[in-house]
Amino acid sequence: MRRSIECQRWGQTTAGQEILRFTMVNRHGLMARVSSLGAALTELWVPDRRGGLQDIVLGFDDCAGYLVNRPYFGVTVGRVANRIARGQFDLGGTTYMLECNDGRNALHGGSHGFHSVVWQAEPCRDDHGVGVRMFYHSADGEGGYPGNLSVSVTYRLMDSNELKIEYSACSDRQTPVNLTNHSYFNLSGQDDILAHQLVLASDCYLSVDVENIPTGAMNPVDGTALDFRQWGVIGAGLRGLTNDPVGYDHTFVLRPECRDGAVAAEVFDPESGRLLRVVTTEPGVQLYTANFLDGSSVGKQGRAYRQYAGLCLETQHYPDAVHHSHFPSIILEPGVTRYSTTRFCFAVASGEGLVW
Ligand code: BGC
Repeated sequence: MRRSIECQRWGQTTAGQEILRFTMVNRHGLMARVSSLGAALTELWVPDRRGGLQDIVLGFDDCAGYLVNRPYFGVTVGRVANRIARGQFDLGGTTYMLECNDGRNALHGGSHGFHSVVWQAEPCRDDHGVGVRMFYHSADGEGGYPGNLSVSVTYRLMDSNELKIEYSACSDRQTPVNLTNHSYFNLSGQDDILAHQLVLASDCYLSVDVENIPTGAMNPVDGTALDFRQWGVIGAGLRGLTNDPVGYDHTFVLRPECRDGAVAAEVFDPESGRLLRVVTTEPGVQLYTANFLDGSSVGKQGRAYRQYAGLCLETQHYPDAVHHSHFPSIILEPGVTRYSTTRFCFAVASGEGLVW
């Protein structure tokens, strides 16, 4: 099969800005679609053990859905993913005030964050796959953050059956940056991910308060429902949690070797045989099991997504890092380009083992 990359006009924002959608197909027939609105992954078609292709990410059929995408389906999140306590931080002697869009705290770059803007986008290709490179210029003061920030996100669908996401960011002033992708995976195509199995290269997680703000402590996963050092079933693990609403919404501290290419996470669906392997340069991963979905987001083919309809593996620096000096810093120095990469690799488990 030949690789291909196509671009179409998908719609427009309420302000009349054009939104593009790109369709990428690799040599094995895997297909990914991305939208310039929110630099979002909108579809990802991956085979099961019988070769049947299925779209394994939650989202909407049309562009209109992404204009009011409350669950952040598939989008690029920034400038700063997850929460900043009380929506404020100090940097270089100045206190910066952000929009508090999650109770008393700032979440995912505010309501007009990177998920909600139209990125410039162009196709790219190399000897190993096809891709789309997206750019966004965030002006000094946008969302309350300092510095003119140039960001790029490149999605590459490789012939090795991986979707590689490369980020870069550069600012003219010191500013916090923590980018991630917010795709909800469901490898089965069924209503929930409770039977999915998970393994994480993580020995500890961040302790949080009732508002989901890190306390600064890193607790061992040993003896808790967060112990995925060996394969565990999501549904079984959930029974050991007491948060409200019940579900995984935790930052896992990845082992140092993950930054050098060791596998950070694997998800397996025994029914379809699909396996997702995550490799990242980021120090943490937020496992979020769609705890807040309540059926009010009607998505693809009219499906009302409910709790546990999908799971996110948001590779990122730690939440609220601006308030914890012992967390890896998210402060970008002026003129320095920061790069990060996350690879979502797909295989199927068959009688002969894993087939990539
Ligand atoms: C956060 C959740 C939040 C969700 C919003 C996740 O990244 O960890 O707490 O509710 O995003 O979709």
